[in-house]
Amino acid sequence: MARQDTTFIQTESFPELGEKAAECFLEAYHSISDKRPVVTFPTGNTPTSFYEAMREKADKLDFIYLQLDEYIGLQPNSNRLFSRWISREILDPFEIPHEQRVTFRSDELFPEDEVARMQKWHDEYGPLDIAVVGIGVNGHIGFNEPPSDDKTHVRVVNLAPETLDLNDTYWKNEQKTPEKAYTLGMAEILKAKKIILLAYGISKASILKQAFEGELTPHIPASYLQNHPDVTIIADQDALSELKT
Ligand code: PGA
Repeated sequence: MARQDTTFIQTESFPELGEKAAECFLEAYHSISDKRPVVTFPTGNTPTSFYEAMREKADKLDFIYLQLDEYIGLQPNSNRLFSRWISREILDPFEIPHEQRVTFRSDELFPEDEVARMQKWHDEYGPLDIAVVGIGVNGHIGFNEPPSDDKTHVRVVNLAPETLDLNDTYWKNEQKTPEKAYTLGMAEILKAKKIILLAYGISKASILKQAFEGELTPHIPASYLQNHPDVTIIADQDALSELKT
């Protein structure tokens, strides 16, 4: 059974998913008055309506963005960088200063140094106040591919075949997706004070049921969200169609 402290918000359409997600984010954001919030955001098809709604609803935002995940091995001018994607969608429109964008350096020659730098940043200035995330069809959160348990930290990962296939489509299959990536660990995501999970479409129905009505298992990293005290899942009817709640 999904825990009672997980809130499910069902939406009727893709634009409504974005609107509800923006409302939920802004409510959490405005509840933090004593500091500049530390937040993270997802890439992917699902959050596009969220970013659109944010640009429509919010006039001014001031936060520190800690990157959720990033491919390894891309040059700083690559338009495939997730950091550039998030910049285009939300950081640039809200003029978040560059020093408040804490991102993985995809072209770092020694990825383990980058892992250590980001882990240190998180441990000193974190945890996240708000984590907006998507969910992969395999139950990944960020790039925490199965198996990933709740003790996993910032690290280098090999992307799963299903993730590579989906990510190829983000770039119209024109270039192959890098096979390695950085991700915040499940431990960092689970330490976030609030988690907002977005899911859209029938392809997410089975994994949502397994993640929120099944047992906690590293084979479905999202299942550990059942143990988090403040998760809001915003999803359409199709994505929620297999859940009993
Ligand atoms: P999607 O990606 O929003 O494109 O479905 C979600 C994910 O794989 O995390």
